[in-house]
Amino acid sequence: MTVRPKKYLGQHFLTDETIAKNIANALTEKGYNDVLEIGPGMGVLTKYLLQKKYKTHVIEIDPESVDYLKVHFLNLANDIIEKDFLKLDVSAYFNQKQIAIIGNFPYNISSQIVFKMLEYRAYIPELCGMFQKEVAQRIAHKEGSKIYGILSVLTQAFYEVSYLFTVPPTVFNPPPKVDSGVLIMTRKDVFTLEVDETLFFRVVKTSFGQRRKTLRNSLKSFNLSDKLREDAIFAKRPEQLSVAQFINLTGKIQNDAI
Ligand code: SAH
Repeated sequence: MTVRPKKYLGQHFLTDETIAKNIANALTEKGYNDVLEIGPGMGVLTKYLLQKKYKTHVIEIDPESVDYLKVHFLNLANDIIEKDFLKLDVSAYFNQKQIAIIGNFPYNISSQIVFKMLEYRAYIPELCGMFQKEVAQRIAHKEGSKIYGILSVLTQAFYEVSYLFTVPPTVFNPPPKVDSGVLIMTRKDVFTLEVDETLFFRVVKTSFGQRRKTLRNSLKSFNLSDKLREDAIFAKRPEQLSVAQFINLTGKIQNDAI
């Protein structure tokens, strides 16, 4: 019995054991005792996670995969969450415990998984995942390039991001159309900002909403004082700003008195 790959669930099953092992070995295992795998499918990664000293939980939306896992991984049965990860209240489900996340992610929801990690950052010290290569590069990239964007700034504000390796389509069944890339994100020791975090998210999202415009134009809706709008930083476009500069900009906007 195997699981029939379903396109609408983004199912591309990894067939290379060495790559599975390398992904499982990428977690630092520091600062948590529990790991949640998103989308285990037939468990190619899961079997290596189960050899570790932390406790492995999995969340899988596909009933056919869940049946497969229950038959092939008898010890896992109580730790299978049959649910859509995007609907999981991570902190409530794990009683406010620190939990790392891992997975060969369904590509159609991979950006949403990262946004969810950011939302629950107080509980997620680490995330290791396989993404579509382009998305992985976008998350890891520094300022000064077209591929640097909202996900890069928001993730790097709270996590150290490393691009580990590229994975070709040939090691999946069925092969996806694109290359994949594996990332590890480790939360910073200090993962709170000295500025209003809600405002920081708004500033970053609004700035990149019109990425070819200068900040002076794209941040008009913030009704900033003329004095602040003369600050040299407002002549820049969003992709030119480092994460630190976005934080600094948020501070200036927060303190702006009209
Ligand atoms: N980890 C496996 C499967 C990867 S394919 C492997 O490497 O072979 C992606 C997996 O994510 C599939 O098993 C799919 O059913 C599951 N999935 C898709 N959307 C999901 C969601 N919203 N929540 C949880 N799992 C999901």
